[in-house]
Amino acid sequence: MICDFGPESDKDGEKMYEDEMSKPQFAYLQQPSGMDPPSVFCPFCGTRAMNNGGEVEGCIHLTFIYPGSKEKFIFGTDDFMRMVEKAEEKSDFEFDDEEEDEFFEKIFEAGGYGSELLVLYITHGGKATDQILIEDKYGFDISRSKK
Ligand SMILES: [Zn+2]
Repeated sequence: MICDFGPESDKDGEKMYEDEMSKPQFAYLQQPSGMDPPSVFCPFCGTRAMNNGGEVEGCIHLTFIYPGSKEKFIFGTDDFMRMVEKAEEKSDFEFDDEEEDEFFEKIFEAGGYGSELLVLYITHGGKATDQILIEDKYGFDISRSKK
């Protein structure tokens, strides 16, 4: 893809690019009502994050798994869990939905995560669970393949 911002807008274009690069990337997926949660595969290398038994078997990119139904991390790299601790210290966080997104922002900020981190927000539920929608979060870090 060719992006030409022109000579006068070059600076703005660069600034916008830098702003985008300093934040994680987010992808939102909504399962049709009543369908089981999807199998999640790493977008960078195609490795499945969890096996059918629900055991974590992710690749080097997998940074964290936070199932909405459990309201806790079932997987996190050492680095990531350190950032969670940091974020917890800085906030009087309690798990209720409104604060959850805020808390995740704090973790990403504390960790200095930029666009190398891709976070999948997967919403599922519906009929089988009395219309309760559950949001699972999966984090994948592309920069980990370089180490
Ligand atoms: Zn991977």
